[in-house]
Amino acid sequence: MTQAALDASPAAPARAAHHQHAQGTQRVLAAEAVSVSFGGVHALDGASVSLAPGRITGLVGPNGAGKSTLFNVLAGTLRPRRGTVRLAGADITRMPVHRRAHAGIARTFQLARELDSLSVLENLLLAAPRQPGDSLGQLLFRRAAVRRAEAAAIERALALLGRVRLTRLADQPAGALSGGQKKLLELCRALMLEPDIVLLDEPAAGVNPALIEELCQFILALRGEGKTFAIVEHNMDMVAALCDHVYVLAEGRVLTQGSFGEVTADTRVRQAYLGEP
Ligand code: ADP
Ligand code: MG
Repeated sequence: MTQAALDASPAAPARAAHHQHAQGTQRVLAAEAVSVSFGGVHALDGASVSLAPGRITGLVGPNGAGKSTLFNVLAGTLRPRRGTVRLAGADITRMPVHRRAHAGIARTFQLARELDSLSVLENLLLAAPRQPGDSLGQLLFRRAAVRRAEAAAIERALALLGRVRLTRLADQPAGALSGGQKKLLELCRALMLEPDIVLLDEPAAGVNPALIEELCQFILALRGEGKTFAIVEHNMDMVAALCDHVYVLAEGRVLTQGSFGEVTADTRVRQAYLGEP
């Protein structure tokens, strides 16, 4: 594909939006009145959330409330039956997940079993952005550029491993990591694309307290650098420690929203979420 064809491809507006951000434009990712049904189950029923740029937004609620479904709608792995997903005001409801990634929206994926035998560093390099010359011809003509990009990706991967203190495990097979270390690696993988919006579904599930603390510190540091987060999490201490704003979902709808203190003071939340009478 020629550069002109690339520029004219549907991904071009997404890249433009990303570059715009690089110049400091604040970008809001939002779901507006989204509905999703699985057979007869209304997983989401007109839910709206908005992720404030540079803030950590929590999505909480009882099991089956629709948190993961909403997360998937924001990430692009699920199309809502109704409603709109917007990035900086633009309708991205039908934008596929890989283009959202190039537009600066990243989500974590569980490490695939097949990649267990690859090293921690190799797992990160696999998550690096594809080079402009994806075709063989371009690869041959742009070898020097590709080598530079590879060197940059290695540098970025090592910097990320340093930040989560996994440097000494860089050459170990990913399969040898503990559950918590795998969660850190999953987050680093998402960060390889240098996203400005990061979506985390239950980052602390199965992670020991020491690594949860490490994870929290890393997320707070990333927020300090201007990154935006949405976090689905059951660990309420973590939600309290991290989230600037919290949405409480129940039965596919937003029950209430506010600061952690505000929403946990709400009697309806205590009833829906904590099972209080
Ligand atoms: P949460 O993450 O808050 O626990 P989910 O978004 O996973 O909730 O699920 C919301 C509802 O949708 C639940 O009733 C769940 O059983 C249903 N659901 C979610 N995903 C699917 C699916 N792929 N097929 C059928 N039902 C689903
Ligand atoms: Mg879930």
